[in-house]
Amino acid sequence: MNKKVIVASNNQHKIQEIKQILSKYGLEVISLKEANINIEVEEDGKTFMENALKKAVTIHKVVPDCMVISDDSGLMVEALDGAPGIFSARFAGEHGNYKKNNEKLLSLLKGKKEEDRKAKFVSAVVFIINKDNIIKVEGHIDGVIIDEEKGSNGFGYDPLFYVPSYNKTFAEMGSEAKNKISHRAVALNKLEEEIKKYI
Ligand code: IMP
Repeated sequence: MNKKVIVASNNQHKIQEIKQILSKYGLEVISLKEANINIEVEEDGKTFMENALKKAVTIHKVVPDCMVISDDSGLMVEALDGAPGIFSARFAGEHGNYKKNNEKLLSLLKGKKEEDRKAKFVSAVVFIINKDNIIKVEGHIDGVIIDEEKGSNGFGYDPLFYVPSYNKTFAEMGSEAKNKISHRAVALNKLEEEIKKYI
């Protein structure tokens, strides 16, 4: 079987995390750029899973002989009724502006106590082996949004996402530690059991 897996994402941080996790299964994980695919898929679904499925299916149509993996993920804050949710990447209006997104999140939670700052990262992962075999899994990790950025690793909301059991934000952990417990890691671990049946 063709062991090439195309990651249906242009987010370098995510691609690295997925590579780090999937390469241990002997799969050749390559980005859209490395595969010379230049497609922006509009994320207009109502759920993380709808968006992940759309991204994976769109790319798989272009490379039907390869496997495709996609992740749609985001942050859900309890006191904000699940926002930013599927709008995590463009919470402050501009796609991928992490600084502005974090500022907006901090301002919305200003003055709130710890119990009102509960949040979770969610990751919906779709893995297309071929058009008849599509695996869908979801993972999440609970945390708390702190009131100032801490740490310099990772990306996005990582400096604000504090994991009580580690006494660190995601941005204070190294990528190795984050990739063991993150929402994506949880989803990819679930995926592992399924993938084993095919590889
Ligand atoms: P997506 O690329 O549409 O899935 O958007 C994901 C967005 O959710 C990113 O731009 C980040 O804002 C946020 N996000 C998802 N996963 C993480 C993570 O592991 N750390 C920090 N932010 C994340």
